[in-house]
Amino acid sequence: MAKIVIIGCGGVASVAIQKCAGKADVFTEICIASRTVGKCDALKAKLEEQGTKAVITTAEVNADDVEELIGLLKKEQPKAVLNLALPYQDLTIMEACLACGVDYIDTANYEPEDTEDPAWRAAYEKRCKEEGFTAYFDYSWQWAYRERFEQAGITALLGSGFDPGVTSVFSAYALKHYFDEIHTIDIMDCNGGDHGYPFATNFNPEINLREVSANGSYWEDGHWVETEPMEIKREYDFAQVGKKDMYLLHHEEIESLAKNIPGIKRIRFFMTFGQSYLTHMKCLENVGMLRTDTVTFEGKEIVPIQFLKALLPDPASLGSRTVGKTNIGCIFTGVKDGEEKSVYIYNVCDHQECYRELGSQAISYTTGVPAMIGAMLVMDGTWKKPGVFTVEEFDPDPFMDALNKYGLPWVVEENPVLVD
Ligand code: NDP
Repeated sequence: MAKIVIIGCGGVASVAIQKCAGKADVFTEICIASRTVGKCDALKAKLEEQGTKAVITTAEVNADDVEELIGLLKKEQPKAVLNLALPYQDLTIMEACLACGVDYIDTANYEPEDTEDPAWRAAYEKRCKEEGFTAYFDYSWQWAYRERFEQAGITALLGSGFDPGVTSVFSAYALKHYFDEIHTIDIMDCNGGDHGYPFATNFNPEINLREVSANGSYWEDGHWVETEPMEIKREYDFAQVGKKDMYLLHHEEIESLAKNIPGIKRIRFFMTFGQSYLTHMKCLENVGMLRTDTVTFEGKEIVPIQFLKALLPDPASLGSRTVGKTNIGCIFTGVKDGEEKSVYIYNVCDHQECYRELGSQAISYTTGVPAMIGAMLVMDGTWKKPGVFTVEEFDPDPFMDALNKYGLPWVVEENPVLVD
């Protein structure tokens, strides 16, 4: 049907690209473009060996450079760009899409690489005061593109991963089929996988560690409530995984769901962590290894968290070693026909099954599959409208059907055990 440019060739991208290559009726041509073109070439060779029907090309691109991106898009003439680089590149890629009239899809909202940049810092501090949460990432930067995308007649689909992404689609689906009004949403991300290393992160360490070491927050009665990092802890017995400790974090879908789910009273996000992970992280933080500013070391400028990334196992390499399952989903409470009710929608994903299918672990898999589905729905016109949207703003049914079809089947449980 059309060509897509996929930017990035890391853990998440390699899943999404393999899934797109298996769907050549929609993605007839795929250009894999990233900073390290060798990784793109290796994946192209693997796909061709497997006999993909899609035409695969590769390109080297620095996605921090708008002009370079425009050059790539002018040459490739794609229908859409799937951004699976880092959140740092969201705005440059959106700019290039605008300049070339190309649809845009991503999985994570914008976050600056340099949090000391004075212009960004001023906007950030104003937002902290006005909105009441201190996370470095938020939707305001990308929502600011709404009018320009509308005028250009192109679509930006933001946050089409698992969380955000599937969790937001679950919310739209619950509202459409199970509730007249949803009052509370508890999003619960449980990883019961074990990779056997004392410490490793399941996706990009820099992004992961920044997220986890930040203040927590939740939405209640029309405003944000901020907590210390890991201040709120609960235990939950997850289907097919078992009992796990989970901690309240700030998470980006809370921001958009608070705007898009009418009548919502509270939204919380919990993620499971083992004690060993938390102890390692606290120690790294205490010694300064999570710092994101520049430090001079033996005459060279280094950013500690980037140096740490170089020492930790590459998330893309964890697949073969990781055993166990993830269970990610949402518990909703609200009313239907005047009656109070509760519903839990979740997916269970097995790390080893993901590895056998695509050579990846379940965290990359559960993000890469919805990224492919979001791109497919924009490309085939099902989710195509001018402007900038998060996934819960579209009809959830085609996305939910596609989850069942492409490897992330879901379960609906009525009257689940609630989180206090
Ligand atoms: P990786 O670090 O494994 O991959 C990132 C890729 O982007 C690498 O190929 C990297 O190139 C490339 N890249 C980085 N900077 C640039 C640049 N300036 N120009 C071109 N390419 C660049 O990350 P993940 O695959 O783990 O994560 C990808 C995205 O998915 C992130 O935005 C992350 O936040 C998001 N995510 C979303 C989730 C969700 O559920 N919504 C869950 C997990 C992740 P190189 O190979 O040279 O390093």
